[in-house]
Amino acid sequence: MVHQGTSKNEWADRHRQALTTRHSHEDVLNDREFELLLEACGDLPAPRGFETRFICLLGGRLGLRAGEIAHFHTSWLDWNRKLIRIPQHEPCDCGYCQRQARQEVAHNDQLTEADALASRWHPKTVASARSIPFDLSLRIELCIERFANRYSGFPRSRSTVNRRVKEAADQADLTGRIYPHCLRATAASHHAYKGVAPVPLQALMGWSDLVTAQKYIRISGTATADALRQVHHR
Ligand SMILES: [Zn+2]
Repeated sequence: MVHQGTSKNEWADRHRQALTTRHSHEDVLNDREFELLLEACGDLPAPRGFETRFICLLGGRLGLRAGEIAHFHTSWLDWNRKLIRIPQHEPCDCGYCQRQARQEVAHNDQLTEADALASRWHPKTVASARSIPFDLSLRIELCIERFANRYSGFPRSRSTVNRRVKEAADQADLTGRIYPHCLRATAASHHAYKGVAPVPLQALMGWSDLVTAQKYIRISGTATADALRQVHHR
């Protein structure tokens, strides 16, 4: 039957695509590579070195997206509870926000450019508005404190975030593809290896569903190994 043939081909296409599409979790940095990247930030001239370290720690350990880092504001910091609160909305009309607004208008006839821009900046999804603890390590906490002493908000553009990450990777002589989203994947992988459960991992990363968190946890193997050892070593 034609219908069956089509769906079979669709399935084969999707399967082929799944095998050949590169996912950011394949570009995850291991702990050693991440340390080398941070070390390399110290070799960059001021203030680039500090800004790059801030990007690498917030991306590679706390899982912030490049857009979130570029729009980071110290008013997001809850010092008492040591949380970064990523809001649903942060008023902005930077070049990136203007481009995003124009793109949204192009895909939606009902939307005016003024309305699209008024809603900028906003994180990628509703689930992306979230609270992220920044006292997971002393070096992250200190980096946030130093940032807040110097700046009220991230001082560079969205595209600079990409450039800085690339610069640090070059300085560290790291081979392979290193870009902001692979830092985010590095954070997810790091916490999965440490044994963070699916629900808190999902909340930390701001994913809309549990499936992605489960995937990182499955790949890390930590939960599997722990469960098996508990059974076999008792
Ligand atoms: Zn903006």
